[in-house]
Amino acid sequence: MEDKNYLEKLLIANKHVKCELCGGKIYYLDSGKYKCRSCGNETLDDFGKVKAFLDQCGAAPASVVSQATGVSPEIIAYFLKKGRVEIPEGSKYYLKCERCGCSIRYGRFCVECAKELTGSLQAMFNEDIGERPKHEPNPEMSGRMRHYEKGIWY
Ligand SMILES: [Zn+2]
Ligand SMILES: [Zn+2]
Repeated sequence: MEDKNYLEKLLIANKHVKCELCGGKIYYLDSGKYKCRSCGNETLDDFGKVKAFLDQCGAAPASVVSQATGVSPEIIAYFLKKGRVEIPEGSKYYLKCERCGCSIRYGRFCVECAKELTGSLQAMFNEDIGERPKHEPNPEMSGRMRHYEKGIWY
């Protein structure tokens, strides 16, 4: 089992609270991006780094994203579990349903297990429910990621 609290703490620790250049107060723009009120310097948190990389370079294997951004694979996996990025169809790697172990593209449980766990699909932990891939992993293709923001997949 992963230590979820550890990852959340790590994410909070990596968040910026003041400007790296002038120490001024920063505010959240969007997409994990922050701006300094005093000097206008822009910084990115871990999600911002992953998103910026995907915007710039397109979908890429998680290992490449991790190397390029310096964001740890654990945190990228955490974004996947939270449904903020997903593994697309045709990927070599998928997440595993925490209950039955089947392949899912994001979240923590497959739809079937979520139904059994909650008795209803309109469960409060909707974000934990991940879709199964339409096809089983294709060894020819590598795991690529997309990200989710404001209701749109990129
Ligand atoms: Zn500043
Ligand atoms: Zn399952």
